Amino acid sequence: MNIAAHLERTGRSAGQRTAIAAGERPLVSYAELLDRVRRLAGGLVAELGLKPGDRVALAMRNCPEYLQVLYACWQAGLVAVPVNAKLHGREFAFIIGNSGATACFTTPDLTDTIASASAADRLTQVETGSDHFRHLSSADPLPLADTLPDDPAWLFYTSGTTGQPKGAVLSHRNLLAMSLCYFADVDATSPWRAILHAAPMSHGSGLYALPHVMQGSCHVIPDSTGFDVAEIFGLIERWPHCVFFAAPTMVRRLLDHEADTDTANLKSILYGGGPMYVDDCIAALERFGPKLAQLYGQGESPMTITALSRAMHGDRTHPRWRERLASVGIPQSVVDVRVADSDDRILPPGETGEVLVRGDSVMRGYWQRPEATAETLRNGWLHTGDFGCFDEDGFLTLKDRANDLIISGGTNIYPREVEEVLVGHADVSEASVIGTADREWGERVVAYVVLRPGAVADPQALDRFCLENIARFKRPRDYRFIEALPKNNYGKVLKTALRDMESARKSD
Ligand code: AMP
Repeated sequence: MNIAAHLERTGRSAGQRTAIAAGERPLVSYAELLDRVRRLAGGLVAELGLKPGDRVALAMRNCPEYLQVLYACWQAGLVAVPVNAKLHGREFAFIIGNSGATACFTTPDLTDTIASASAADRLTQVETGSDHFRHLSSADPLPLADTLPDDPAWLFYTSGTTGQPKGAVLSHRNLLAMSLCYFADVDATSPWRAILHAAPMSHGSGLYALPHVMQGSCHVIPDSTGFDVAEIFGLIERWPHCVFFAAPTMVRRLLDHEADTDTANLKSILYGGGPMYVDDCIAALERFGPKLAQLYGQGESPMTITALSRAMHGDRTHPRWRERLASVGIPQSVVDVRVADSDDRILPPGETGEVLVRGDSVMRGYWQRPEATAETLRNGWLHTGDFGCFDEDGFLTLKDRANDLIISGGTNIYPREVEEVLVGHADVSEASVIGTADREWGERVVAYVVLRPGAVADPQALDRFCLENIARFKRPRDYRFIEALPKNNYGKVLKTALRDMESARKSD
């Protein structure tokens, strides 16, 4: 099927419902959104001459037109390439060039960047709100393209904490599987009425827009371009039964907000995309109530590998509640998940290996990268590059990305475990641990630490604290105190940047 069929259905069966709001203001109903989508799709085909399978880039910040453009691509059988709005011009150019996009929608703030970054002669650029955009949006409506389930729908460029970004080819089937798992595994209890797009729609928030189109939620686009905590709390007060997707760092920022706010309207915070520290998770449960759900996924199996549901978060009386909060939950309904050794042999519970995934949410491959595809989709399984282990109850706990693993004296050290200990210290706000070459041990553990305001750097105190909490060989041998950890545009810590900082120190 075509994933845009859901908008056709909601637009007709619940056309009067508000589909899009700008901050507190309702803007567009589902019937209007459907009409705009059909017309823009008509414009893409009749005016721009695009044909099914052609790629259209979205270099757009979150904005009220985002879903119109996304669904218009699918309505016309085109492939959407949503690009993170915070990327550098060079990165935009790479993604547009690599995907072969011939049209690119931009929000006004990105128009010049795209114009100077890409081969303009080949690319038709359309700015939202421009006359050109209005003209395309008033073309004759196009009926839904007859798309097959395995046709590409979304080229998802991985965030690239390492190397060049690769475009995971996500089909209509993949997006449908992800959407159904949202209801089955992540946030099973209705009503859902509003989804706040607090995080980039080019990534998790846009992906989770899909199940919310299926069941007719209002998509609320905050007015601020960044993550404005005060605004988010205001929108929660405004919109009943609201949910939003947040990276763990955003949850942390909500917790740091002191003001007394009413969160009775909040239904769920869906978090994922990176590790959430258990203490933060418990603090969020205390502040907001049992309204958290976690998902673990990656661009190659979007939002859909495992989930820790709201119910699991709320099950405080369970003897292993705390361990479960430290996990990423159990496999989502449409996938098989296993932990395997380097020869793909299944490992028993308690043993750590690479996380492998198979099922309807797994990408078809990387766009025009047959070798990388063959490497990642070996033996019928997606090799995630994440390390983890299952417990006896089937809960998966992630350790680290394969290339973040530290091997010291022949023993594996998982940075996450050391980081969990460090952030438990009262003086530490954030910590990231890497390995650095060591003549004696092969690698040695180095911790980059951001202190809480007013705290004083005291490596000995942190060393004592580590000795009290983890095996001696895992403790950091060096501490580097810094103002802030380098992060990518999705808030993920860039360990590659920390490794570069470490090598720069050595060569000084
Ligand atoms: P991306 O493809 O950019 O979405 O990044 C996916 C990667 O983020 C995964 O392979 C994991 O390493 C990490 N990740 C995603 N969700 C979680 C989670 N819930 N907990 C810890 N790490 C996560």
